[in-house]
Amino acid sequence: KSHEIREWQLEDSYRSLPATFYSLQQANPVPEPELVIFNYELAKERGIDETIASTDSGRDWLVGNQIPSRSEGIAQAYAGHQFGQFTMLGDGRALLLGEHVTPNEERYDIQLKGSGRTSFSRGGDGRAALGPMLREYLISEGMNGLGIPTTRSLAVVKTGQAVQREKRLPGAVLTRMAKSHIRVGTFQYAAARGDVSDLKALADYTINRHEHTVSDGKNPYLAFLHQVIEKQAELIANWQLVGFVHGVMNTDNMAISGETIDYGPCAFLDQYDPMKTFSSIDRQGRYSYGNQPYMANWNLARLAEALLPLLASTKETAVQLAQQAIETFTPLYTSYWLKGMRKKVGFIDDEQEEDRSLIERLLKIMSDHNLDYTLTFRQLSTEGTLPASIENMEHCQTWKKEWENRVNQQSRKKSDIENQMLSVNPFIIPRNEHVEQVLEDVEKNDDHTLLHAFLVAIRDPFKETEMTKRFAQVSASKTPYITYCG
Ligand code: AMP
Ligand code: MG
Ligand code: MG
Repeated sequence: KSHEIREWQLEDSYRSLPATFYSLQQANPVPEPELVIFNYELAKERGIDETIASTDSGRDWLVGNQIPSRSEGIAQAYAGHQFGQFTMLGDGRALLLGEHVTPNEERYDIQLKGSGRTSFSRGGDGRAALGPMLREYLISEGMNGLGIPTTRSLAVVKTGQAVQREKRLPGAVLTRMAKSHIRVGTFQYAAARGDVSDLKALADYTINRHEHTVSDGKNPYLAFLHQVIEKQAELIANWQLVGFVHGVMNTDNMAISGETIDYGPCAFLDQYDPMKTFSSIDRQGRYSYGNQPYMANWNLARLAEALLPLLASTKETAVQLAQQAIETFTPLYTSYWLKGMRKKVGFIDDEQEEDRSLIERLLKIMSDHNLDYTLTFRQLSTEGTLPASIENMEHCQTWKKEWENRVNQQSRKKSDIENQMLSVNPFIIPRNEHVEQVLEDVEKNDDHTLLHAFLVAIRDPFKETEMTKRFAQVSASKTPYITYCG
C-alpha cells in the first residue's frame, strides 16, 4: 500500500430536493472487501484518484463500509411501472454516495449497487451477487465502446459475504457512475404523491442538471419533455442498430439523462429475430427486441402524464401539449433509426425513396434465414457479400444487385464507403456466450485472463485484430449461418 487517501470530495446536490425524494442511509459494513476489478481508464478520464483501488479506505468506500465526505449516503425514492404494474419503489439495494465533479465540471453520481438494505428494500436483502454485477460492468463498458450513452462502471468489489439466491453466491458491490439516477419513475413517484411543489422542485432540479438550455423558454417543462423524448428516440434507435435488448424496460429503468441504465437480463442479438427476448421473466415478450421502440414510447407517455400539472394551467391544455409531444416520438425514432441504418448499408450521400425498403428487405432476409445480425452487416462491409449459406438464393441475389446499384450510384470511392460501413458495423459485441465464459472463469477459477482480454475487445469493437477475433466468432452450436428455409 502506497499511502492512505483521506477524502473523496463528493458533492450532494440531490439533497437540496425535498426530503420526500430520498432517505439518509448509514454505511452497511461487510467483513472482507476484495477488489475484483477497477476501471483505471474511467478513473483517469474523470479525474478520480486511482489510489482508491489500492488502499484500505478506498476499498471501504467502494464496498460501502465507509462513506466518503459524510457519514451517510442516500437511497433515492422512485416509483415505476414494472411490466405494466405501477408500484412505489426506491433504491432497495443501492446507495448514492454523492456526486463526483470532474476537472471539466461534469457531474456524475457515484452509486453503490448491492451495498445492503435501505428503507426501500421491502423483502429484499439489499445485496447483489458477483456474476450480475460483473455482467453489468462488462455490458456497460461494451455499450460505451459502441458509442452508446450509458452509465459506467468504476469497480466491482467482493464483500466476503454470501448472498442467497437459488444457491449461495459470492456477494459483490458495483460502483456505478451516471449522469444522474433520475428516472421516469422518479417523476411518477412525485406525481403519485400528489404534491405539485415537490414535482416542480424535481423538474427544476432535473432541468438544471441535464437540460438547462430549456430553462429560459416560455414553457420550460414542455421543452424539457421534448428533450427527454428526443434523447430516448436517439438512444433506442442506437440500441436497435446494434441489436441490444435491454430486457426490463420498466419506467424505473429509464433514465431521464438518456443513458442506458440497469443492466439485468439484457443481451445482444445473435441471429436476427424481432421477437427475441432473453429474459426468463418476460413471458409475454413485452420487452422483446422489436417492441423496444413501442415500450419507450409508452414509458414516455407515463412521463408526460406525470408532468401534466406543470405543462399548463388547465388540464385540457396540458393533456393536449403532452399528446403532441408524445406524438413526436415515432417520427423522431424512425428518422434516427433510418439514418443509422443507411450508414450501416453504405448509403452515405443523398437519401432515396428506395432506401427504407432495401433495408427492410435485408432484415427480412436475415430473419428468414436466421442470420447473425452483427456478422451479416460486418461481412457486407468487408466483403460486400451476403453469407455463403444464402448467397445463391435468387431473392438474395436480387437484393444484392439492387443494393450494389444503389451503393455504386454514389460518386464515392469504394474505400470511403467501406470505411464508413466499418465505423458503424461492429466486429465485436458482448455476446452472451463470451460474457458467460468470462464470468465463469472469474467466479469458479478466480482467473481474470479472459476478463481483461474481453474488455480490450469490447472497448474497441470496430477494430478487427488477431487478439480479438475469437470474441467475434459464434460457436458452431449456435449455427448463425445455417438456414431453415421453408
Ligand atoms: P431492478 O430489477 O434491479 O431494476 O430492481 C427493481 C426494484 O427492486 C428496485 O427498487 C430495486 O432497488 C429493488 N431490488 C432489487 N433487488 C433487490 C434486493 N436484493 N434487495 C432489495 N431490493 C431489491
Ligand atoms: Mg432498476
Ligand atoms: Mg428466424
